[in-house]
Amino acid sequence: MNDKKGFTTTILHSDRLLKPEFGALHQPIHTAVTWGFEDVQGLVNVFQNKAKGYAYSRQGNPTVTALEHKVTQMEDGMATVAFSTGMAAISATLLALLKAGDHIIASSYLFGNTRSVMQTYMDMGLAITFVDATSVEEIKNAYQENTKMVFVETIANPATQVAALGPIGDFCEEKAIIYMVDNTMTSPYIFRPVTVKASLVINSLTKYIGGHADALGGSVTDTGLYNWVNFPNIADVLREQIRPEMLGITQIRKRGLRDSGGTLAPEAAHTISVGSETIALRLNRACSNAMALAEFLEAHPLVSKVYYPGLTSHPQHELAGSLFNGYGGLMSFALNDGVDCFAFLNRLKLVIKSSNLGDTRTLAIPVAHTIFFELGAERRAEMGIPDSMVRLSVGIEDQEDILQDFKQALEHSS
Ligand SMILES: *Cc1c(COP(=O)(O)O)cnc(C)c1O
Repeated sequence: MNDKKGFTTTILHSDRLLKPEFGALHQPIHTAVTWGFEDVQGLVNVFQNKAKGYAYSRQGNPTVTALEHKVTQMEDGMATVAFSTGMAAISATLLALLKAGDHIIASSYLFGNTRSVMQTYMDMGLAITFVDATSVEEIKNAYQENTKMVFVETIANPATQVAALGPIGDFCEEKAIIYMVDNTMTSPYIFRPVTVKASLVINSLTKYIGGHADALGGSVTDTGLYNWVNFPNIADVLREQIRPEMLGITQIRKRGLRDSGGTLAPEAAHTISVGSETIALRLNRACSNAMALAEFLEAHPLVSKVYYPGLTSHPQHELAGSLFNGYGGLMSFALNDGVDCFAFLNRLKLVIKSSNLGDTRTLAIPVAHTIFFELGAERRAEMGIPDSMVRLSVGIEDQEDILQDFKQALEHSS
């Protein structure tokens, strides 16, 4: 398509326009691990990056390529590499681009597993400063001569802080450092990090993009804004072969994907791809359900605090409103002291006690006892996570049914 279409139209027709066999509307699932060549020069050309093609499925497969293309379109980016999970995308991208002695600045409100992989890389010689990413001043103060990257999430989990996305983008541009944004919580339907000058965008495809909790996947998208030519960690062999704008994403594919082996299976790519077609419908509904539930909970006498960017009481409410096309499906809340959090959760009949997010169903989890348990009480207190905090991933059920479930569970809680 030369003329640009809307978000959903583009995703729906993306596979078809790549012209798969027999006019298929979806890219078929290609299960081949390897491809044969009539002429050996064809095989050599693929190996030497002189021709497009597939040699071995660990670093490329037509079904996965079609999903990568779709994610690139969703993010309005230049190129995407898909991975087996969101964590594989994050850990392999850092592995591909950074070296011992490099410094990165990361948000102190990171997703727990991302925080964990950062700790592993620190043990291997990467220097990392964790700062409150709602303040660009803190990012600026942490900057050093060897800083190569800033890593933030759009909306933090579970307390929903919104990073100072725009000013951080300006700062990274000024310093010519990589700006890596994990867009999982917002998804490209709600927010495109390219609009705040992100260099690389991470998505856990497991969450809103796949949308149905039936396949794991992850991706990194190069927005095309970063100038990789002056980035010192690009391998010389790539500089000789690859167009300058493709240097970063190629190194992520070659070093990150190929060497880590965190490959997305074609079956999962297909499932995620089909799921992604309805992301706008699902998120519009989840956002409106989440807003109604946040308002209900905020007004409830047994609830001490609600964390949701859509509420005017949220510290970054206006920022979120100016950047996002909706406030998302994720929220947290805390019950009053003395209210038994587990008993309350067990009284929920419709809402599922589960750790995932971005599903079509509404899910609830007690934060301090599960996803942030390993951090310990002290770090939780620093991060502002009370023991009674419950995180919700609001789904697309009929709104009245969700509200009714919370109403009845709270009625018996006092
Ligand atoms: C879930 C999640 C990830 C990791 O994704 P997986 O697909 O579960 O590996 C990374 N970042 C954020 C913000 C997430 O919510």
